[in-house]
Amino acid sequence: MGDKVKYKRVLLKISGEALMGQREYGLDPDMVERIAQEVRTVHGLGVEICLVIGGGNIFRGLSGAAAGMERATADYMGMLATVINSLAMQNALERLDVPTRVQSAIPMSTVAEPYIRRRAVRHLEKGRIIIFGAGTGNPFFTTDTAAALRASEMNCDLLLKGTKVDGVYDADPVKNPRAKRYDRLTYHRVLTEDLGVMDHSAISLARENRIPIAVFSINQPGAFAEVIAGRGQFTIVS
Ligand code: UDP
Repeated sequence: MGDKVKYKRVLLKISGEALMGQREYGLDPDMVERIAQEVRTVHGLGVEICLVIGGGNIFRGLSGAAAGMERATADYMGMLATVINSLAMQNALERLDVPTRVQSAIPMSTVAEPYIRRRAVRHLEKGRIIIFGAGTGNPFFTTDTAAALRASEMNCDLLLKGTKVDGVYDADPVKNPRAKRYDRLTYHRVLTEDLGVMDHSAISLARENRIPIAVFSINQPGAFAEVIAGRGQFTIVS
C-alpha cells in the first residue's frame, strides 16, 4: 500500500445492468471480464474488496409485481438473479487468478457459502474477494440496501457505487450537456433533494455508520483504482 490507496477495505456495488453491456437482457461475458479486471487491479494494490451485484439485468421484483405476481415471490426471484450474477463474477475473477468466495443471504450450500459475517471477514483477511449474493435475503429490499448493510457489517471504509456516469449531477447528463457534477454532497442533501444516489434506506444506513459513498463510472477504465487513490472524477457523499 502507498499513496495509491486511501482505503483499506471497501465494498463495490454494481447494478445488474452494468453486466449487460449492449445487450437488452442477461450477461455480456466481455463486460463481466472487463469489470473483473478493474477489481483485480484494485485487489493488486492490497485493498480488501467486497462486491454486491444487483439482479436487474435478469429480474426485478417490481416488474414481476407489476405483471401480477405476488411481490415477495417476485423479490425472491430477483434475489436469485443476483446469485447468478455473483457466480458469473466469481468465475471471471478466478479466471484472472483472484481468489473469490460467494456468500449467499439465501442458503444454497451446493452453489455458494451461506452468509456468515465472521467467516466473510476471515476471507477478506486472507486476501480473498467476497461477493455477497441474494441481497439482504429479504423481500421488499434492494441490493443498494444490501450493499450498505454488508459494508456496515464488514466495517468498510468506503462504499462505492459504480454507475454509467462519473458521479451525481444536478440534471441528467445524457439529456442535458450543461448538467453539473457534484464533487461532494452530504447524506442529508441526497436524502432531502432525493438525488437518486442510492435508495433512502441505503443512504440512511451509510450515514448512521459513517461510511462515505463514492459514485463513479464503472464504464471508465481505471476509474475504480483512481477513486481508491482519491483521484479522478467521482462524487463523494459523506
Ligand atoms: N431484492 C430483494 N431483496 C434484497 C435485494 C434484492 O428482494 O435485499 C430483489 C428485488 O426484487 C430487486 C431484485 O432483487 O428488484 C434485483 O435487485 P436490484 O433491483 O437491487 O438490482 P440492480 O437494480 O442493482 O441491478
